[in-house]
Amino acid sequence: MTGLYFHIPFCARKCPYCDFYSVSYSRETAEAYVGAILRNIRAYAVSDTVDSVYFGGGTPSLLSAAHIGKIIELCAARYHFSEDAEITLEYNPTGNRADYLRELRAAGVNRLSVGTQSFSDEELRMLGRTHSAAQGMAAVRAAADAGFSNISCDLMLALPGQTKEILRGSIRCLSELPVTHVSAYLLQIEEGTPFSQNAALLSRLPDDDGAAELYLHAVSALDAAGFRQYEVSSFARSGMRSRHNLKYWQCEPYLGIGAGAHSCFDGRRFCVPRDIAAFIEAPVQPEKLIDAQPCMQEERMMLALRTTDGIPENALSASARKQLPMLCKAGYVRQGSGRIFLTPEGFAVSNAVIAALIS
Ligand code: SF4
Repeated sequence: MTGLYFHIPFCARKCPYCDFYSVSYSRETAEAYVGAILRNIRAYAVSDTVDSVYFGGGTPSLLSAAHIGKIIELCAARYHFSEDAEITLEYNPTGNRADYLRELRAAGVNRLSVGTQSFSDEELRMLGRTHSAAQGMAAVRAAADAGFSNISCDLMLALPGQTKEILRGSIRCLSELPVTHVSAYLLQIEEGTPFSQNAALLSRLPDDDGAAELYLHAVSALDAAGFRQYEVSSFARSGMRSRHNLKYWQCEPYLGIGAGAHSCFDGRRFCVPRDIAAFIEAPVQPEKLIDAQPCMQEERMMLALRTTDGIPENALSASARKQLPMLCKAGYVRQGSGRIFLTPEGFAVSNAVIAALIS
C-alpha cells in the first residue's frame, strides 16, 4: 500500500515559531500551483494500491474545496484507491466555515486534522495564532456537524509558561469534543524564527526536565481521556490511529508532491526544493535525492521504536542487549512477549534511548 502526500505551502500569515516552508496566499498562485499538482499526478505511476492521501502544509484549508476535489478526483482516476482510503486535510480553525467543511466532505476528504494547538487563549496569543480557544472548539464541532467522524487535533507541549493545569484544561476540552486523535508535540525553537530571538519568551521556556514532566503529564491525562498513545507524539481512540502517520514509522512508501514535499517512493528517498516558482514552472517536479537505499534495517528499527509496537528483542545487537537491563531498571524500556518497547518515560527522552539501543 502507498500513501500520497500533497504539500500546500500557503499561509495567511507566518506563525512566529514555525520554520515550515510557506508563502503568502494569492488566488492566481494557488490556481497555478494546483495545476502543477495535477500535472505531477499524471507524471507519476503508482502501481500499488493507495490507502491514504494527506494534504499538509502550510495551510491546505486555504485552497478551495473545488481545488481539493479536483486533486482527489484525478488521483482516484489515475491510481487504484483502496475502498477505505483515509483522506486527511490539515484545517486551520479560523472563522465559521460550515459550508466549506461540507464541501470538503463531499469532495472525499474523510479525516480532518485541526490545528487547534491549545485551548488556552493566552497560549494561542503567545503562539501568534489567529484563532481563539472558542473558535478551535467551534471548528471541531462544525466539522462533526459536516459529517467528519475522524477528527484529529494538534496540541503543543512545553510552551513558555505552560503549567500542568493549563495543559489539563486543553486536554479536558479535547475529551469533551468529538475528537478521535491527538498529535501532541513539544515546541521546538527553530533557528531564525522570531521566537528564537525573543529573550523574554525564551526565559519562560521549561528546561529539559520541565518539558519531560509536561510531556508525561499529557500522556497520562490523554490516556485517562481515552486517547491511547501509539507513537511518541500520537494518541488515538480505539481503531482511530492515523494510517498516513504510521506509514512514516513503518517505512511504508509514500509519494510527496509539491514544493518542499518529501517522498519515500520507488526505493528512493527524495525531496522537492522549497521553491514554489520552480515547482509551478517545471513540467515534472524536480527531485533531490536524499537516500538511494532508504529503510535499511537500522532505520526500520529506529522508526519502529518510536511506536508502542516496539521491535523484537532478537533484532538487537549483542552490545545493545547488554544495555537492556539498565534501560529497563531506569524505566525507559520494558520487555514482553519477546519484544521491547519504550515506556512513556523512554519516549520523553527517545533520542537518547534509541541511540543506546541501536548503536
Ligand atoms: S504553524 Fe502552520 S499556519 Fe503557522 S506558519 Fe507554520 S504552517 Fe503556517
